[in-house]
Amino acid sequence: MTHRILILGGTTEARQLAGKLAARASVTLSLAGRTESPVAQGVPVRSGGFGGADGLAAYLRETGTDLLIDATHPYAVQISANAAQAARIASLPILALRRPGWEPVEGDRWTEVNTSGDAARALGPAPRRVFLALGRQEVAAFEAAPQHHYLVRSVDAIEPKLAVPDASYLLARGPFREAEERALLEKYRIDVIVSKNSGGAATYGKIVAARALGIELVMIRRPALPDIASAETVEQLAAMIDHFVRPVDERGV
Ligand code: NAP
Repeated sequence: MTHRILILGGTTEARQLAGKLAARASVTLSLAGRTESPVAQGVPVRSGGFGGADGLAAYLRETGTDLLIDATHPYAVQISANAAQAARIASLPILALRRPGWEPVEGDRWTEVNTSGDAARALGPAPRRVFLALGRQEVAAFEAAPQHHYLVRSVDAIEPKLAVPDASYLLARGPFREAEERALLEKYRIDVIVSKNSGGAATYGKIVAARALGIELVMIRRPALPDIASAETVEQLAAMIDHFVRPVDERGV
């Protein structure tokens, strides 16, 4: 019997995990289908929403999936909630891959807020030069603070553009190294960065660069996620799921 694993992805770790498990089980990686040119994943991929928790539960049943893994981004709250609920509905085990958030260290000048709306307010009334290292969904909140200059960097184009008088746009996909980030901050004379607390090394460069340049950072805190069994790294999660994917004869069945 081949074990069937569905990995809800959209992160580097999900892709790495899929590659690691592919030799031991039948793995499908699920992407939301938002990014126009996604990175090649190296395993079978399905793309697009399932139609809520019920739709996901139906998919899990139809495909005979026996393990669900939520390896989505820490700010993708809806799909994580759906995954937990779908696993309950379909009576399947679920595990999550949750990379730890960053912690401020000496020299960091962070203001922590709960939402992108709070971040826009935290910039204050005086015009500033703001680097928004955020996605399409979060940047709209900054239209409420049109006095600032914005530099917006995202994986996919921001459409429609922000209804503010002064904004520039960059399309780029990480990883971003500290030296590149420092050069960017200097080139655009940035005085404040707004970031999610994504964790991981790929986007940490801007945090280090901000520290080196003494630049303030408005950090949008992580949202609450379902309380399910989780691991922090691909290796830990692979070890946790080993007993699900051991060949049948090794279990003496
Ligand atoms: P979200 O708000 O939690 O999810 C919205 C809806 O998109 C879900 O209800 C689901 O639709 C669909 N969806 C999300 N992830 C999916 C997946 N892996 N496979 C199939 N359908 C999925 O998600 P989001 O914040 O827009 O993130 C979308 C994707 O981008 C996720 O895969 C996430 O890992 C990745 N990502 C997000 C961020 C971020 O900051 N939010 C950053 C980097 C990568 P249905 O209800 O119809 O099933």
